[in-house]
Amino acid sequence: LSHTAILAAALGIPAVMGIGPVDHITGGEIIVDGDESCIVLDPTRSLKDTYRTAIVEAGEIERRWLDEKHLPASTTDGHNIVLLANTGLLSDVSPGLERGAEGIGLFRSEIPFLAHETFPTEQEQYEIYRHLLQTYHPLPVTIRVLDIGSDKELPYLHVDEDNPGLGWRGIRFALDNRPVLVTQLRAILRAHLEFGNTRIMIPMVSHISDVTNTAEIVDGILGELSDGDPVDRPPLGVMVEVPGVIALLPHLVGVIDFVSIGSNDLTQYLLAVDRGNARVAARYDPLHPGVLRFIEDVLGECARMKFDASLCGEMAADPIAVVLLVAMGINTLSMRASSLPRIRGLIRRLSREESKGVLDRARDLSDPEYVRRLVTDHLNSRGLGSLLTTSTRALES
Ligand code: PEP
Ligand code: MG
Repeated sequence: LSHTAILAAALGIPAVMGIGPVDHITGGEIIVDGDESCIVLDPTRSLKDTYRTAIVEAGEIERRWLDEKHLPASTTDGHNIVLLANTGLLSDVSPGLERGAEGIGLFRSEIPFLAHETFPTEQEQYEIYRHLLQTYHPLPVTIRVLDIGSDKELPYLHVDEDNPGLGWRGIRFALDNRPVLVTQLRAILRAHLEFGNTRIMIPMVSHISDVTNTAEIVDGILGELSDGDPVDRPPLGVMVEVPGVIALLPHLVGVIDFVSIGSNDLTQYLLAVDRGNARVAARYDPLHPGVLRFIEDVLGECARMKFDASLCGEMAADPIAVVLLVAMGINTLSMRASSLPRIRGLIRRLSREESKGVLDRARDLSDPEYVRRLVTDHLNSRGLGSLLTTSTRALES
């Protein structure tokens, strides 16, 4: 769940994190099994052959799911789910469209900032956003305001903090460095005025002023760019990553248009487990009963406030979590492009009623591992086990 892992996944690079020091790697051969979180040093010829077969089979399964990319992600009892893509790299824009994404649910705008040697100019940013909006037009593109800090440190701006995960990150940093935020919002809004399909999303919201101050800046820039002619503000949304935000939702009626659950950070803050720390990685799990219960509560609040609600953390790409999210009534999921066909395939073969039955049983369980086993058993009993992994067979052999 670290940003390195997310980027590797977006680029289709198999990766295994947190394995500690490895001896005698130089010159040897390694199998990197990202599905099973293991590496094999100096594999035997027969193991290599088994993995090669597994890779071919996985490709065939993916192609089968891809055949359904134009079909709606509707459950067998008619609950439709909008599937959006997460991106942040321009090289990663079209794979979403090729896999049937109905828009972008999360553009991680900090990634171009991380790839630069200094803050990108307004014009450089405008060109990125323009390309994005044009490529997806008329589908919606959700651009998240700069979310740096913690493990996303800019190479040209070192911030020394004892506890960066709880520090100057996301919208806190952006509002305190107003010229950076204004430059970015100007670039976004210039592109928006040409294409009109932008949604602006605010990361790491913890206080109402994070939202109202950002909304004020957006309105001010829109006024400047349109020479005072009235223009509608693009839809504005908040990420639910800091748990306390749940209590702010009723106060945001009339200020925001949508909510997106950032389950990666939400999990780390609910469980007090650093998402990038290998020592505690085994304790990090979005299927923890506390996380599941909280997400259900957020969705309930959003329904009550009539906010359009989605989830854009890595959970959206995990078939096991998706069964539970469908049961909770999620309407929109945003994920890395490579997972779209598989998740669409899963949703099209599930009924919401049956997933509600699974969620009911999951509510009684005390450990994420039990939840995982419960949903895995259910999917296996429905003949959908192949959705879960691509190389178990190889590993077993
Ligand atoms: C999240 O926290 O779930 C999220 C989508 O944002 P990021 O992974 O970029 O922190
Ligand atoms: Mg986050």
